[in-house]
Amino acid sequence: MSESVTSEPRNVIVIGSGPSGYTAAIYAARAQLSPLVFEGSVTAGGALMNTTEVENFPGFRDGIQGPALMDEMRAQAERFGAELVADDVVEVDLTGDIKIVKTATDTYTARAVILSTGSGYRKLDLPNEDRLSGRGVSYCATCDGFFFREQHIAVVGGGDSAVEEATFLTRFGSKVSLIVRRDELRASKIMQERAFADPKLEIVWNSVVESINGEDSLESLTLKDTVTGETSELPATGLFIAIGHEPRSELLVGQVDLDDNGYVLVQPGSTATNIRGVFAAGDLVDHTYRQAITAAGTGCSAALDAERYLAELD
Ligand code: FAD
Repeated sequence: MSESVTSEPRNVIVIGSGPSGYTAAIYAARAQLSPLVFEGSVTAGGALMNTTEVENFPGFRDGIQGPALMDEMRAQAERFGAELVADDVVEVDLTGDIKIVKTATDTYTARAVILSTGSGYRKLDLPNEDRLSGRGVSYCATCDGFFFREQHIAVVGGGDSAVEEATFLTRFGSKVSLIVRRDELRASKIMQERAFADPKLEIVWNSVVESINGEDSLESLTLKDTVTGETSELPATGLFIAIGHEPRSELLVGQVDLDDNGYVLVQPGSTATNIRGVFAAGDLVDHTYRQAITAAGTGCSAALDAERYLAELD
């Protein structure tokens, strides 16, 4: 593979193209920093490219389709001069004053880097899971609970987030079935007590989802009893998969400080990592809120932090 090195270091390289990356690009471009944005080769636009209606992003009172929202952000970044590259960053060296960012074919340099590679939901890896995502299958109760008013909702998982999501979803659903692989929950005692006391929440112990069924939208789940091997049908029209989350930080191991779960650590009240000139934003950092608007917000902060850092260097 031939390799070329771009000559002059850029001011800013943004890695990632979700709400945090594009917002960072908009701000950096409007500050005349000519950012270079690596969007990724397959999923430019980030997590919202996999969803349908987004009803909670401010400014769209009738809601907006996820891909349409991301097209707008992308076009807005381009309008102000962000240079977008539909390629994956495969290696970085962020430790020096000049940061090195590599794709499979080229090497780029910059004085500041904004990390916005997001995170992924763990999937069940079942047939129909992707096809029915946004059509009954979801990974985010805050985002999608409202769509399932008076419906039978299933939640998969036994940890804190599954129990929290199941309890939250009882506000909307006529009934919520929490499907748990074992005969106990891993969630904290207080979360468990809240779940056990909730009359709308049923716990289906010793069970896994064997298949996700439906043509245009979710119609039912086939469950398998992990003890007897028997199968049964659950007529749920909503399925929330809450089995974990993985920040996309493989690239960054040994480069910036990460927490035990792989999230990038930033200084309190800032987007600065432990490496000078390296900033991080969005779901790569955030294991609490994980919303498009919070990702966009920290993307803005990262661009402002990078701008100040560069101004101090000059
Ligand atoms: P992401 O959106 O994950 O974007 C990261 C981007 O970086 C990706 O495009 C990825 O390809 C790219 N990337 C990763 N690694 C590299 C690399 N090495 N080189 C180049 N590029 C790279 N939130 C809401 O507020 N409302 C909703 O209704 C809502 N619905 C959702 C529905 C679904 C199905 C999902 C999955 C999420 C939903 N969310 C919603 C959550 C929201 O999408 C995320 O919080 C948000 O997208 C996080 O933005 P981000 O910029 O941090 O990362």
